[in-house]
Amino acid sequence: MSEPSPLPSVDRVLNLSAMQPVIARFGRTLTVAKLRSVLDEARTGWRIGAAKVSLSEEEAVARCVHQLEAGEQRSLRPVFNLTGTVLHTNLGRALFPEEAVQAVTDVLTRPSNLEFDLASGERGDRDTHVEDLLCQLTGAEAATVVNNNAAAVFLALNALAARKEVIVSRGELVEIGGAFRVPDIMARAGCRLIEVGTTNRTHLHDFEAAITSKTALLLKVHASNYAIIGFTAAAAEAELAQLAHRHDLPFMMDLGSGTLVDLARWGLPVEPTPQQAQAAGIDLVTFSGDKLLGGPQAGIIVGRRELIKKIKKNPLKRALRLDKMTIAALEAILRLYRDPDRLAERLPTLRLLTRSADDIKAVAARVLQPLQNKLADYYSATVCDCASQIGSGSLPVERLDSHGIAIRPVKKGRGEGTALEKLAAALRALPVPVIGRIEDGALVLDLRCLDDEAGFISQLAELNVAP
Ligand SMILES: *Cc1c(COP(=O)(O)O)cnc(C)c1O
Repeated sequence: MSEPSPLPSVDRVLNLSAMQPVIARFGRTLTVAKLRSVLDEARTGWRIGAAKVSLSEEEAVARCVHQLEAGEQRSLRPVFNLTGTVLHTNLGRALFPEEAVQAVTDVLTRPSNLEFDLASGERGDRDTHVEDLLCQLTGAEAATVVNNNAAAVFLALNALAARKEVIVSRGELVEIGGAFRVPDIMARAGCRLIEVGTTNRTHLHDFEAAITSKTALLLKVHASNYAIIGFTAAAAEAELAQLAHRHDLPFMMDLGSGTLVDLARWGLPVEPTPQQAQAAGIDLVTFSGDKLLGGPQAGIIVGRRELIKKIKKNPLKRALRLDKMTIAALEAILRLYRDPDRLAERLPTLRLLTRSADDIKAVAARVLQPLQNKLADYYSATVCDCASQIGSGSLPVERLDSHGIAIRPVKKGRGEGTALEKLAAALRALPVPVIGRIEDGALVLDLRCLDDEAGFISQLAELNVAP
């Protein structure tokens, strides 16, 4: 006969008065399942003799609560982006202004006219909520929207050039972080890629010589995340447009980031706009919703009416369409663009990009002491100059003057790198994880994107710094 188990039964623990608030908080199903697994774990340990000690009722409750609480934390949650990259793809890119949050809440919590024409009472088209705004703001004849810019390029290629040839310069066959590679998208869209020119130089005559009866489209791709400098040449957009039109071909540009306003107005590096692209004769322009535009993840296509019409008719449009949350947010963001004078205050992305170095320096001065107090004798923190970047492939060589805190281990020599990694991990383990970057033997926290200073400082109490 085996020894009786030194563990309490599930029922016994469940009926303890200490368990009642736990059941009320987490629900009966989850609590019972967790308690079972806590007791099973202990039983296994007891059987294999790993844990000789028995589990008391109180311990069972405590373990159960601890595990239930650990499971409470959402997987997707806010972090402090102190990387210095404002539009950080891995950290969620653009942030919404209140107007967009409210618009999303409204359509999520109440029925809406998503695909319902209020004037006629008949079925409507979900694109209408943003199409007019996009046309007004970009000067386009028509517009449509899909899941992201990768989808926009894919859909446009498939709709306009499936089983046909698309001519692109070799200098523009880019890969944009992750899995967006122009040649791959082209192949999946069913188009044949015709590369012309060389990596650094492509001329108008290179395009001209490649045009055949199978050509369906000329494509230009914004080099986004890299720059070719030195001995370079690219065919002028206006000349390419003329060439395309002489051959009755559409000319499309993947603009990548795509802002609707001239960034020079705020002293920011200049990015081409869809307005300029169309003025140069480009027939179709695609760009992202959550890069410089500062809105939700979306792919925007603007341009000539008959081309947009073809794109909208393609069955893939249905597969790549936007949901109501995104449309609501995008409309709210586009509305802000109608008042460009106040854009830098109202659009978080632009506000962060235009934040003055002095303002950021003042933030650094305020957070330095609380941080140093916490880092005690293990690390030393100093205010440093640093350079932020826009991110998401915009303006790869341009940097924005910024300030931050550079943290270095006090103990020099071996183990310095490990100490920095440990601190970086401890910062990531905070309730609102803090993400910095390790650079030149220091952990740098670029403060351009720190808005919630009080929240940042108050959670330092929970930072575990002992290296
Ligand atoms: C970012 C980018 C894309 C991909 O856009 P997503 O909205 O992230 O899908 C495509 N092309 C260019 C040139 C880009 O910069």
